[in-house]
Amino acid sequence: MVDESEMTSSPPVPIFDGHNDVLLRLFRRSGGDPVQAFLDGEEAGQLDFVKAGKGGFAGGLFAIFVPPVRRKNEAQSNLTATDAPAVEIAEAQRVTFAMAALLLRIERASQGRVRICRDAAAIEHCFADKTLAAVLHIEGAEAIDENFDVLNVLHAAGLRSLGPVWSRPNAFGYGVPFRCPASPDIGPGLTDLGKALVAECNRLRILIDLSHLNEKGFWDVAALSSAPLVATHSNAHAISPHSRNLTDKQLAAIRDSGGMVGVNYAASFLRPDGKQDKDTPADLIIQHIQYLLEHLGEDGVGLGSDFDGATIPAELGSAAGLQILVQGMRERQFGNELIEKICFRNWLRVLKRTWEPA
Ligand code: ZN
Repeated sequence: MVDESEMTSSPPVPIFDGHNDVLLRLFRRSGGDPVQAFLDGEEAGQLDFVKAGKGGFAGGLFAIFVPPVRRKNEAQSNLTATDAPAVEIAEAQRVTFAMAALLLRIERASQGRVRICRDAAAIEHCFADKTLAAVLHIEGAEAIDENFDVLNVLHAAGLRSLGPVWSRPNAFGYGVPFRCPASPDIGPGLTDLGKALVAECNRLRILIDLSHLNEKGFWDVAALSSAPLVATHSNAHAISPHSRNLTDKQLAAIRDSGGMVGVNYAASFLRPDGKQDKDTPADLIIQHIQYLLEHLGEDGVGLGSDFDGATIPAELGSAAGLQILVQGMRERQFGNELIEKICFRNWLRVLKRTWEPA
């Protein structure tokens, strides 16, 4: 048995990641202490502190996501993301605060090994100290009230990134349902309150994530936002014609804004047939990276795993396997400078530009 670290001749390239759902996994976990389970590592799941260390996962956006509430007498099999019912604000706030508290508790219990980062300098310090850098993100703004009181409180608690919608309608807009093959141009865009949310996020310098917006919502944000356009975990529609992926026209708008896309490892957003199949080659991730490089340029592509939120290629498996992507990029003759841009430099630059514009 050869140790993974012995297989690669050079030290692991640190990776900053655009999206994970580990807080959801820990929130739903039954038995034991989820905080300690994250720090000690466990068999289950795709991301924890130990797997992060093995794979060079140096930090990323940690999502708070309020799962759909199952209605009485409704079989789970009937409840697809496409027609997921709206979530009440009180329930959304309960879950949102619980998941935010989980990350705050992880930071405290970690004794300096995990840090919630509120600015770009904090992430750079984490990279230097080998501290895991966590940025608090909300995927779907169901917990946010119309006066933005909760948004301001969450911002003070560390929130630095927000997707107005997940793949369901809410007070702010209409998420893109999961369909393949399908255009992302499904349904109306942002509501008036959604447009006000964009302005408030710009004012607070909170990153606005485009990943779950449908195409009309995407163009609404593009027209209104003063920040670089960012899709934290989405892929190329030209390769995988899934409604969650980005068309060439959307990619051009992201490039022109100085923004970026984090490549998603979910098999259903990688594959041309949109199948949720773990028997999917990890090389498809590199193919999406190459396509996105052609359309966004070297400064516009990063990684956005969707760890603990999706079925990913078994070959990659978990955060512990991340360096196989670095190997894949090397095999395709990507230079060290480009690999570093994709693995972390582009994220650091775009977050800094969003949070601390000149
Ligand atoms: Zn997502």
